[in-house]
Amino acid sequence: MVESLDRSQGRAGAPATAGSSTPATFTGNRALQIEEPLIFEMGQPGRCGVDLPEPPKVKDRLNGLRRNGEIGLPGLSEPQVVQHYTRLSQKNYAIDMGVYPLGSCTMKHNPRINEKVARLAGIGDLHPLQPVSTVQGALELIDSLAHWLKTLTGMPAVAMSPAAGAHGEMCGMMAIAAALEAKGERAKRRIVLAPESAHGTNPATAAALGFTVKPIPANARGRVDLAALKSALGPEVAAIMLTNPNTCGLFESEIIEISKAVHEAGAYFYCDGANFNAIVGRVRPGDLGVDCMHINLHKTFSTPHGGGGPGAGPVVLSAALAPYAPYPWIVKQGDAWTVAEDGAKVDGKPLGRLKAFHGQMGMFTRALAYIMSHGADGLKQAAEDAVLSANYVMAALKDVMTPAFEGPCMHEALFDDSFLKDTGVSTLDFAKAMIDEGYHPMTMYFPLVVHGAMLVEPTESQAKEDLDLFIAAMRSLTERAKSGTAAEDFKAAPRYSPRRRLDETLAARKPILRWRPSNSPPGGDPMRQAAE
Ligand SMILES: *Cc1c(COP(=O)(O)O)cnc(C)c1O
Repeated sequence: MVESLDRSQGRAGAPATAGSSTPATFTGNRALQIEEPLIFEMGQPGRCGVDLPEPPKVKDRLNGLRRNGEIGLPGLSEPQVVQHYTRLSQKNYAIDMGVYPLGSCTMKHNPRINEKVARLAGIGDLHPLQPVSTVQGALELIDSLAHWLKTLTGMPAVAMSPAAGAHGEMCGMMAIAAALEAKGERAKRRIVLAPESAHGTNPATAAALGFTVKPIPANARGRVDLAALKSALGPEVAAIMLTNPNTCGLFESEIIEISKAVHEAGAYFYCDGANFNAIVGRVRPGDLGVDCMHINLHKTFSTPHGGGGPGAGPVVLSAALAPYAPYPWIVKQGDAWTVAEDGAKVDGKPLGRLKAFHGQMGMFTRALAYIMSHGADGLKQAAEDAVLSANYVMAALKDVMTPAFEGPCMHEALFDDSFLKDTGVSTLDFAKAMIDEGYHPMTMYFPLVVHGAMLVEPTESQAKEDLDLFIAAMRSLTERAKSGTAAEDFKAAPRYSPRRRLDETLAARKPILRWRPSNSPPGGDPMRQAAE
């Protein structure tokens, strides 16, 4: 929440809709667009949705630490709570509502079979501290998924526990650091190379582990500049972190050369596998000389994501890095499944533990359901269809928008903002106008190597007629922008959303993380002060 938000200004139905002759409604609502307060603003002291018995009188063992005041929870009836959250949920643009073209994030359909399987009592009600003898099926499930991931990537080992892509990067880079340590080269090899187009988590991971990040420029084709890479390699380089297909939606066509050069220089090849969904069943990263790669189950294998997770980021490892895989992993002893935990006697030198318990079990279940319901042929087709959809969008828009690079793309179509030159309309304005057309905007201003970038990833999930409508809407917006008379119109967008242009900078720089009743004294809120 941003405090500077003026509720009377951008609110649905309020007269703020510039030039509108629609009369304001009494409530400020507009049919199903219902103005929604915070739950704390709705609460009434003393109201409660449940009837609880008086707690029994017991001896106070809190030794003077008993809370004196109210806990501050809002008081609401059950229907109020249900209605509040249902109304909020309807304000959300969701993958189940329409085309969600966010590039680099892979917002794809989450098949209902995944959800059904994840909710089966024997899976959904598991507790991670249950005795191993009672969770044999769950351990077998993790092992089956591990087997699929190793097979699809052509890699001999996988660490299942990392909780997301960035966590997987941390795991893989820690394995590389450990391998260097074992060779006595950790102190000498301090540099990690990362292409300029890299996702921000790549340099952040390397820096967090104490490496120095050196950017590698892209060539005019949007790929790594091989000559620049070769000249950057040397005895002080620990690894390269490379995304393939890269964040420009392009396959690194010189990847074999790259991995050879990296290995000849004694460095490791970390592949960022966030875009694995474009090549599953077509290319095995292991065949490209990759030493380790994280897989975002929530991007490639359709587990839900957004709103902060949960994701899952298993990391496949080459034979050279496998000995450093973190605990735990699943072992089969005779007919029984067991878990190798910290301190288990093993040949390698495990990193220790990166996460409590075994990883994101719910995501494992969904990913395995997705993989098994597709089968090997279906996975390959999903990847091919995703690439086809992106190229369809690219081909249908390239005469009116400006593709950032020549030639076909992989799973996402990248445009720059040169088609908006001199129109007074920016990438941001264009994205806001898409909201009025009923679409979630594409990814904007990423990758940073492309000016005013617009990255569209349709995925395999959308029917052709839905893509056609999306394309027609985009063409209409470009036409309006280029007419030269619509800049103000674009700047006023979105018009039809519950909130209009918010102060996003203020929201990011000074987030207000705690609600205070309007009559409480200002200041004195430690969280507020920390934010300021
Ligand atoms: C999404 C993404 C990541 C980070 O993955 P999370 O699961 O969000 O932590 C890393 N690299 C690329 C290229 C990505 O698209």
